[in-house]
Amino acid sequence: MRVVLLGPPGAGKGTQAQIIAGKLNVPAISTGDIFRANVSGKTELGLKVKEYLDAGDLVPDEITVAMVKDRLAEPDAKAGFLLDGFPRSIPQSEQLRESLAELGHSLDRVLELVVDEDELVRRLSGRRMLVDGEMIQRDDDKPETVRHRLQVYREQTEPLSGFYEAAGLLSRIDAIGEVEEVTARALKALGVDDAGQPSAD
Ligand code: ADP
Repeated sequence: MRVVLLGPPGAGKGTQAQIIAGKLNVPAISTGDIFRANVSGKTELGLKVKEYLDAGDLVPDEITVAMVKDRLAEPDAKAGFLLDGFPRSIPQSEQLRESLAELGHSLDRVLELVVDEDELVRRLSGRRMLVDGEMIQRDDDKPETVRHRLQVYREQTEPLSGFYEAAGLLSRIDAIGEVEEVTARALKALGVDDAGQPSAD
């Protein structure tokens, strides 16, 4: 199955991507995670993208699209994938469609995690991650940057919701509630049971 997970920062995409991809037995591919790993590893790519991540701006398409294309060509993504954080704009979605078409593939479903903005700000400002045994705040989770990321989301990414709806690919998922409840709603929208197998109804 080829699935895209859409939703604002703080909607829980990363958490759900890991769980759902595990059930579907496909790789979860997170552009944000790939960028962050390169920044902390101080790779050539990391040095190029650090300023964008720190500012909460989108990394330029020529960097992001090439990276995703390479990742999707890897053997583990042949039979399916769950994309988290890509596409993040209409031009990126067009590039994705073309890259998949070259491989003879297309998307099966787009899941949009829906959370209201007050809840997003609350979640992001309280969010911490474990790095080298320490709980730290992601640089781009600082309040000013959070506001900017939400604005970038509204302007560049939110239009994808209507775009994929018009294509008949979108399922909107209420992403408020326990992690397990949100997962159950997502699996239902994908038409699979808790083991990732096609459900009877
Ligand atoms: P969140 O969804 O919480 O904002 P991500 O981990 O998905 O966090 O992304 C973090 C940062 O990585 C973004 O603010 C952006 O700088 C960069 N990034 C991730 N995905 C993309 C993308 N598809 N296009 C451009 N930049 C991206």
